[in-house]
Amino acid sequence: MIAKRIIVALLSVMTSVVTIAPAPVLGQKGQASPVAPRRELVESVVKEAYAQFRGDTGGKNADYIPALAQVDSKLFGIAIVTTDNQVVTLGDVKDPFSIQSISKVFTLALAMEEMGADKVFDKVGSEPTGRAFNSPIAVVDMQTHTGNPFVNAGAIATTSLISGNDANAKWNKVLDFYSRVAGEKLTIIDEIYKSEAATNTGNKALSYLLAKYDRIYADPFESVDIYTKQCSVGVNALQLARMGATLANNGKNPATGEQVIKAEDVPHILSTMTMAGLYDGSGGWAWHVGLPAKSGVGGGIVAVVPGKGAIAVFAPPLDEAGNSVKAQKVIEFVSQKLNYNLFSPSSVGWK
Ligand code: GLN
Repeated sequence: MIAKRIIVALLSVMTSVVTIAPAPVLGQKGQASPVAPRRELVESVVKEAYAQFRGDTGGKNADYIPALAQVDSKLFGIAIVTTDNQVVTLGDVKDPFSIQSISKVFTLALAMEEMGADKVFDKVGSEPTGRAFNSPIAVVDMQTHTGNPFVNAGAIATTSLISGNDANAKWNKVLDFYSRVAGEKLTIIDEIYKSEAATNTGNKALSYLLAKYDRIYADPFESVDIYTKQCSVGVNALQLARMGATLANNGKNPATGEQVIKAEDVPHILSTMTMAGLYDGSGGWAWHVGLPAKSGVGGGIVAVVPGKGAIAVFAPPLDEAGNSVKAQKVIEFVSQKLNYNLFSPSSVGWK
């Protein structure tokens, strides 16, 4: 009787093993594109989103960094890059804007490349703060003090982990890494850097508060300066979508083929994006959209559809939490129409 049960159990395990098809490796030559059969659909959904939200006047440019208030609020671009390097774009996708907080994703990736994910987790953590991205109260209140790598305090601590003989060497390493993730050489937008460096007293205060708790790992002001530079890096919507597509493609840039980020680190990055990518708007974002994403006060948001690709939207006016109003609407619209919500069983492989 027992033997019979074991045989039945074994058979059912074997049949289930046999019926599970191997997961397709996306983004390789000869492989069906994750969007190819639907390219026309993707294009038409992007067009529809562009037309629907183009006239939206909600939100306003960030102005606590004076140069950001000068950026044309009407700029609006949508870009999708897939894991097999197909590109769909519409609107102002060639205009560079400052990457701002989206940089935090890639400095986190670089820190993990250098010291391994576990050490980074020990030193920075990954807990939601429930407070504004630049909150000093969170630093005092939270057990980790740093919160997570995507609030300013945690991000400055993450930047302080990057190794190098001097500040310049560290900064060049960061910029080179971002460029490899984007598949193109990126440069700093000087006016943004100068404007932010002249006004970043809050971030300097955070860095010293972190020092009080031994949660910053290099000179505090040097770390803030490198952090300010990383936030001032210029990207356009297309480059940003490619950076997202590198994550979607397990760390391998779909345009250059370079494995820039270790595949094993990608789930840590995407889960942190899901939990804190839109600051204290992250819960509502997960509820409505269900995709790992990261926003910046420059007006960009990039959302990643693991295994498939990424969508980046640039539109400067922000909501109260510091997230681009139009970008949120476009990504929600596109991801609903294309069934990209990761928490939807039908999206991730319902059989
Ligand atoms: N550089 C900005 C700051 O430190 C980044 C903030 C953001 O994009 N949310 O405030």
